[in-house]
Amino acid sequence: MLRDFPWVVVRMRCHFCRRGGDVRLAVFAEKYGAYATLGHLVIQFIKGCEWAPWNPTRRPQKYGMKCGGYCMDLRRPDPPDLPPGMSGLHLIEGGLSEKLPASPPEVERRKRVGGD
Ligand SMILES: [Zn+2]
Repeated sequence: MLRDFPWVVVRMRCHFCRRGGDVRLAVFAEKYGAYATLGHLVIQFIKGCEWAPWNPTRRPQKYGMKCGGYCMDLRRPDPPDLPPGMSGLHLIEGGLSEKLPASPPEVERRKRVGGD
C-alpha cells in the first residue's frame, strides 16, 4: 500500500516503450488514496502503454509483446537517491578466482610428430 511505501518518490518504468516517470508519493496518495496498492498503480501505468494487454486496437497474441511496466524501487533496501559513497562498502560474491580474464587464455597447440 502507498502508506507503507518508504520512499518519497515512486518511479515507474517500462522495458518496451521506454516510458517512465517519477511521481511524488504524496501526489499518488492524494489521487488514489493512502490504501491504494502499488500493483494498482502499475496497472494504471500499463494502461497508458501502447503495448498494454487490454489495448482494444491490438489483437491478442500468444507470443506478442506486452507492456513491461514496473515500479523500480519496490523491495529496495536502501533509498534510491542515496549517493553511492554514502552506502558504504559492499561484499561482492566470488573473488579473484572468479574474476573474468582480460584476454583469452593461451591455447596449447599440438605439435606435429614424425615426418621430416
Ligand atoms: Zn510499456
